[in-house]
Formats: sequence, C-alpha cells, structure tokens
Amino acid sequence: MNRVDIEGVSVSPDHFINNERVRSERTFEDRSPLDWTWKLADVARGGAREATLALVAAEDAFPQWASLSTHQRGEYLHRLADLIDEHVADIAHVETRDMAMLEESLRLRVISRGARNFRAYADLAGDYEPRRWSSNGTQNVVLRQPAGPTVVITPWNAPFMLSTWKCAPALAAGNTVVLKPAEWSPLSCSLLMDLVAEAGLPPGVFNLVQGLGEEVGAALVNDPRVRRISFTGSPETGRIIGEAAAKNLVPFTAELGGKGPFLVFADADLEAAAEKAAVMYDDAGQVCLAGTRLLVEESVTEEFTRLFRLAAERHVLGDSRDRSTTVSPLIHPEHLARVSGFVERARAKGDRIVFGGELERVGGLWYRPTLIEPASNDSEVVQHEVFGPVLTLQSFDGEEEAVRLANSTPYGLSAIVYTTSDERAERVGRRVRAGTIWVNCFLVRDLTAPFGGIGISGIGREGGDYALDFYSDLTTLQIKEGTTHG
Ligand code: NAD
Repeated sequence: MNRVDIEGVSVSPDHFINNERVRSERTFEDRSPLDWTWKLADVARGGAREATLALVAAEDAFPQWASLSTHQRGEYLHRLADLIDEHVADIAHVETRDMAMLEESLRLRVISRGARNFRAYADLAGDYEPRRWSSNGTQNVVLRQPAGPTVVITPWNAPFMLSTWKCAPALAAGNTVVLKPAEWSPLSCSLLMDLVAEAGLPPGVFNLVQGLGEEVGAALVNDPRVRRISFTGSPETGRIIGEAAAKNLVPFTAELGGKGPFLVFADADLEAAAEKAAVMYDDAGQVCLAGTRLLVEESVTEEFTRLFRLAAERHVLGDSRDRSTTVSPLIHPEHLARVSGFVERARAKGDRIVFGGELERVGGLWYRPTLIEPASNDSEVVQHEVFGPVLTLQSFDGEEEAVRLANSTPYGLSAIVYTTSDERAERVGRRVRAGTIWVNCFLVRDLTAPFGGIGISGIGREGGDYALDFYSDLTTLQIKEGTTHG
C-alpha cells in the first residue's frame, strides 16, 4: 500500500472511497510549515472522476445506513470515537507536522474533541423524541429523516477537529459523507479514514477525497447527487459554494471567517483581560474565532496596553513540536505573504505599528505577534480578516461607542467581552452582532449550543439539535385523531 512515513507515523496520501484507498494519476506536494524544505507527501489530486467515484459510493451506501436505527449507527460512531482516543498522539503528531498547530495543545485538547464530537452526536441522535402535539383534530409528529449523501469541505486550520465537527452529526443523522479536507493540511483526516475502516463502518458510508478546491471541491459541490453541503472556510469560497448549492437547491451551511471584537470595559479585571487577549496570538492567530480587534475603554487603555504588552512578550516563537513554543509558524509562504501584506499596507497608510510587524526568522514562516493602532476604523486591517498574529487596538468612550465599533465590520462570528458587571454583560451581549459571545472567557464550548456566524461570517447554525436538524429532512406526519390505534 502507498504510505508515507511522517517521523515515525505512517499515513496514506490517497483517497478513501468504499473503505479502500484509491490513487490518482496526479498528485500535489504537501510541505511542512515547520521547515518548508521538508516535503511530507505527494498527495492524490482528485478531480471529477474521484468526486463521482466517492459520491456514487456514498449514494449506494445511503439506503442501508439510513435504515439503521440511531442506536445502531451510534454504536459505530462510539467505536470510532474510542479509536480516535486511542490514536490521539499519532493524529496530533501528524497534524503538527502538516499544519504546525502546537502539538501539546492538539494532544491535550483539540484531537480528543474529535472523539467527543462523534460521541455527542451519536447520543443526541439516539435521544431524539419526535415532537408530538394535537391541533385541528390531528396529531402532529415531526420525524427526522436522513437526507442523503453529504459533502463536507473544511479549511486548513485545525483540520481534524473541524472535519469531525461536521461529519459526526451528518453520519449520526443517517447521511453518508464525502469529506474533502484542505490541500494545505490534508494528512490528519487521512488518518481518520484508517480508523473508519478499523471501526468497521460499512463501505461507502464515510469517504475522503483529496485535492484542490477549484478541482475536486468544485466537482463535489456541483454534483446533483449531493443532498447536503457543509462548508467551513473563507467568505469568498463560501459564496462560490453557495452558488452551487443554490443551483441544485441543496441546503447549505457555511461557517466562515471572523474579525471578532475583544471588548474591555473599565470595570474589567484588566490583568485577566490582557492575559486572554495575548492568547489571540496562539497558533499564530490562525483561529477564526479569535478576538482580533481590541476595543478598550479610554480610561483604562494605557494600563491595559501595558499589561497586554507584558503578556504578549512572554510568547515563545518556535517549533510547534516543542512544549515551550506558544506561537507556531504560519501555514504556507503564500499565507505569510498575505499576512505581511496587510501589515505593510497598514504601515504605508499611516496606521501605527505598536510592536511586531516583521518576520521572526529569515527563511522560515514565523511572523512576530503584532499590535497596530489604526489611523481610522475604516483601515483595511480593522475591516478585513488577517488570519495571522495581528491585532488592532482602539479605544472607546462608553458602552454606546463600544457596541458601535464592535458591530462596524461585515463579520459576526464571535466576540469577547471583559466586564465584572452582570447587567452590562447581558446588555452588550444582546446588542453585539455575533454568533458566539464569550464573557470573561474564550473558546469554552458546549457542543449542544448553536454555533455559526452572522453577516459574512456564515449561514446556518450547527451544534446539538441544530446540526441534526440541518442534516435531516424534517417530515411532519399529520394523523387524523381517532382513526388509528396501537
Ligand atoms: P478557503 O475558503 O480557501 O478553503 C476552504 C476549503 O474550501 C478548502 O478545502 C478548499 O480546498 C475548498 N475550496 C476552495 N475553493 C473551492 C471551490 N471552488 N469549490 C469547493 N471547494 C473549494 O479557506 P482556508 O484558507 O482553507 O481557511 C481559512 C478560512 O476559514 C478563514 O477565513 C477562517 O476564518 C475560516 N474558518 C472559519 C471557521 C468557522 O468555524 N467559522 C473555522 C475555521 C476557519
């Protein structure tokens, strides 16, 4: 079998269709951001042929998978979750070398969230009690029916966790899945497919195709066999995929980019706020949910900035395999050029670089944690997602201005608020436009809560029953009362 060795862990660079590895004539190079001269693999480069193969497999497997009870499907998904837990170290190992997320945090937190995704959705789907009520002389019963072959397309950051977040509810709801991970970090999802085979999922239920977005990705989302499309990535790609979904009238969810405000009120615990704000540089800021616009009440801006600078200076840029590293390299030279392009244009337009604003090591992909005071709220670096270790700092005078600035971009994925006032937390929470708002914390998630974006940050909600409803066709049975009996 075609496998590559990633410093002691063996990974297939091929597709996984019908529980078998499938090769393509063409391949693309996958390099490590830890050392760009290090070629990890020549990965199968799928196109229309592989998209069709995978969707036919998913279509063929659908009736049987859909006919299982939620508990029977749950047993498969629990087995898969157990296998993920057994292989956390290997998956983290590969993902660190492939996309440079910090190995320690992948090992301790992120990868096991993948196992939790499968368990949580297996159990939730099993717990579903159809809604029943009487009206107009009929019994109304709402049934969740499996929808059909589902395409899941995911981005390069946290690829394993983000893919399982979408595939788990799709499978639990009785759909079959074709997953296409991003071409910049394709390998950890390939390891997942080894576990799918080991867990004994029936052939065709869970497939993976590798390749470029505009090739195999486009072929998948335009195929009329597809009954659901679930996408995470940039708003630009979201629009393209949305057009394909509209063409075939296929329900579509999109979790897109963010430009979250990080609001610090004068009554906040400033030290805690500054420490948390510095966390936005973790993983080189390549986190969609990050609060990248620091908005601080005028009376405490000077003190907050002093504390924030101290916290930011404690960051250690380095190799993501080392435990002491807190800031990883960026994913790709093209992405580094994009990030530094934002900073250079900001500098040229008169925004003030407070610290950072340069590469850390010549030849590598590390960019220094950067803080910018924009000349205006219209500055490009305030209005556009950078997706790197670049934060902006602005002050506000009172709650009204805080909310106005928070809502002044087209994004609405997340927000972070630091205040010690209950009332303010709720007041501001009701007025800030964001799918998730954290008060005095960050990244705490309950998997049953709705998750998604407002504005250009996304369409639809996933999480808990919201996801299971999306991946199902909801059918209402209306039974004339008194005409049936048990
Ligand atoms: P991207 O939009 O460039 O690519 C995402 C995926 O779409 C990749 O798998 C890519 O191959 C595929 N793709 C590209 N063109 C396609 C096409 N025409 N048809 C079908 N598929 C296509 O995004 P990226 O650069 O990989 O990821 C970074 C972006 O993702 C950022 O904007 C980030 O904020 C966002 N993101 C959002 C969330 C969230 O939960 N809202 C989570 C992580 C990342």
